Parts: sequence; structure tokens; C-alpha cells
Amino acid sequence: MKSDLKNIYNSLGISDEVAEFGEKTLESLKERFEKIDEIAEINQLKVLAALQKNQVSEACLHGTSGYGYNDMGREKLEAVYADIFHTEDALVRPQITCGTHALALALMSNLRPGDELLSPVGKPYDTLEEVIGIRPSKGSLAEYGVTYKQVDFLPDGGFDWDGIKAAVNEKTKLVTIQRSKGYQTRHTLSVSEIGELISFIKNIKSDVICMVDNCYGEFVETIEPSDVGADMCVGSLIKNPGGGLAPIGGYIAGKKSCVENAAYRLTSPGLGKEVGASLGILQSFYQGLFLSPTVTACALKSAIFGANIYEKLGFSVLPNSTEDRHDIIQAITFGRADAVEAFCRGIQAAAPIDSHVTPIPWDMPGYDAPVIMAAGAFVSGSSIELSADGPIKPPYAVYFQGGLTWPHGKFGILKSLQSLVDNGIVLW
Ligand SMILES: *Cc1c(COP(=O)(O)O)cnc(C)c1O
Repeated sequence: MKSDLKNIYNSLGISDEVAEFGEKTLESLKERFEKIDEIAEINQLKVLAALQKNQVSEACLHGTSGYGYNDMGREKLEAVYADIFHTEDALVRPQITCGTHALALALMSNLRPGDELLSPVGKPYDTLEEVIGIRPSKGSLAEYGVTYKQVDFLPDGGFDWDGIKAAVNEKTKLVTIQRSKGYQTRHTLSVSEIGELISFIKNIKSDVICMVDNCYGEFVETIEPSDVGADMCVGSLIKNPGGGLAPIGGYIAGKKSCVENAAYRLTSPGLGKEVGASLGILQSFYQGLFLSPTVTACALKSAIFGANIYEKLGFSVLPNSTEDRHDIIQAITFGRADAVEAFCRGIQAAAPIDSHVTPIPWDMPGYDAPVIMAAGAFVSGSSIELSADGPIKPPYAVYFQGGLTWPHGKFGILKSLQSLVDNGIVLW
């Protein structure tokens, strides 16, 4: 390692040992990183081609106010998303407040009383439990007479084909497929696995709507779930596709009829996509989307670097150091509470914002144990930015994700390791 770089790391609290361990670990990752750069290159060109095809102009970056009729920038942005996802239409709005909202919107607008929703991939993301009504909740789908069925993965992690076949019935209207493992221990689905699942389901019932929760998955591969039969792809703009610049927002890309339903629910029957002022937000949406392929690549490199560092040190990591990636989340199981806390303190200390604050575990609504969160982000709660959190309960795992740039992600991992060393948890 070059001594001037080492000096800089030293001045930021990284010891020679930690810095050198990092460099050594990196040596084995060159080929992996090249593959990630190739994917980013393809996705960068895909985004660029969509911007050019739609003739996005400077005027598109400015916003409308009031009703937002004829908002050219908003309409073109939605056309750009539809081109990237190869879908008939898209809804991309700052009025969609987060990922949960985008998913709830897609579900509530496409389901009617008496319909049934099926998850063939086990329990959905925590916040979706209340949307569906798995946990009783005001305004849930259950309150509107939409029933829910779930088929879990088999013990070996595979799809329960027989169980899925048995679960599809005349009421089944919509199938929800979560791509990312989220904060569970199952594996993240590849786009091709999602394609297999969708064709299996459509073979049983061809008119069922297949929706994919695409959170954390965008631009990790060169194709998206809509390329393999998904009727809707849904996600958050403060994750991958916002590129770190979008300060709010969500998207639904899919079949015209599905997107139309969502638009009539988001605004009003009769108004649909025609209203919704973009105010001054469109430049951040366009520019964030433009940066998203390379930002996602940086987050992936950071996750892989972290997996390799901590696997080498004997901790269990998911995904492991060598397996293919289908989202940007990295789990590390430490087996002890003080390690989870030390790790998060290290990530926080590496942040561009609030690096001087100390995260501590806290009781949070909806969780059954105290949770510690490290986040020093430009956009509050943005998890495409370097961030980590862990519930303080066995198996004492921490989940980390993001990193807008690779040097920052690398520094965050080194800081987390330094914190574990300084607290006597990692012994050389
Ligand atoms: C983040 C996430 C959500 C919910 O998004 P929020 O923006 O936090 O509401 C849903 N599903 C998955 C898989 C996620 O990762």
C-alpha cells in the first residue's frame, strides 16, 4: 500500500494493520469488481439510451406547480422508466412517499374486494404485513375484504412448487414476489429465478398479475423482473434508482392497465396521471437515475468487500464472500451484542453527516427488540447511502448496505473493523 494513502488512513483513525488487511483482501477481488463494472457499463448505456430516445431536454428539469397539468418533465421521466424496465408505462412520483407506499399503492389499486393476494416467497417485508393485514392494521387490504395466502420456501431454500400450485385458485388475482431477502435469512432471488416462478404461475392461471417488490435490486443485474414476465416492478427512489440524489419518491413500472389503476388510486378516479405537480424535484430524479448504475455498483463492491473481510475473520456472512449478488444488502452474524454495536459505531464514524454522533440501541415501534442504526446520510433514511442496522437479539446479526462511492464504502468497512479491534472483539 502506498505510504501517502496509509498516512491518510492513519490520520482518519485506521491503523496500519487494518489498512493492510483491507488491501490484502482487495487483491483477490479484482475480477469480481471488473464484472460489476461491466454490469454498470451496460446499465449506464441503457439509462442513457432511454434519456436520449425520449429527447429529454433542459426544460424537463424544471417543475410545475398547482395541478401540474402537462408536466413534460414528469411525463418524459415516466417514459424513460418504462423504456428502462421495458414496460408499457410507469408511474414515478414524489407523491409516492416511500417503498412501502409504492407497494401498498400497487396492491390496493389492483385488488378488489373478494380477490386474493398470494405470496409464493414466504413472509413479505415487515411493513407489508400491515398493508396486507397479516398484522391487523387500520386501512389494510384485509379490512377491504382482500384475502391473503402465503407459501413458504422449502427447507432447502427452493420454491415449493406443489404448495404454490395448490394455493392458486379462482380468487387469486395478484401474486407478490419480493426479490430481496430484506432482513430475513433466505436468499435473494435472481431475476432468472423470478422469471421461472412467474412462468410457472402464469401456466396455472394466465391472467394473474405478478408484481415484484424490486427494492434494493435495481441495476444489480443487466435485466429487471419486468424482462422476465413481471406485470409490475415496484421500488423506492431513496434506494438504488434514486442514485442518492432523489430526496423522496417511488415508482411502479409495468403493464398500462396496472399503472393506470395505480395512478387513479394515487390521485383520483378521473384524474390519474394527468395531475401531480413535480415542483422542483425532477432534476434530482433524472440525475439520480443517470448515476444509479454506477452508484449501485459502488454499493455492491462495498458489500462484497465487507463479506470478504468478515468471512476471513471467521464470522458468518450472507451472501458469502464468493456467491453472485442479486441485491445490495450484506448480513454479518457476530453472535454478540457488543460486536453489533461496535460495528455500527464504526459505520457511523465513517459518515459524511453526523459522524460525531454515537448510535445506541433503542426500542422502535414494530420491533420486538432494541435496534441500533447507523446512518449519516444526506437524505434522511436513505439506504443507498452507507448505512447499517441490527436488532439486539440472537443471532446478533448486522445488515449493512449502500455506499454512494466505492472509496467511501471501503472506508466505512475499515472503520467498522477498526472499531471491533479497538473494542477487543477482533483479536489479531
Ligand atoms: C425497503 C424495502 C421496502 C420498504 O421500503 P420503505 O421505503 O422503507 O418503505 C419494501 N421491501 C423491501 C424488500 C425493502 O427492502
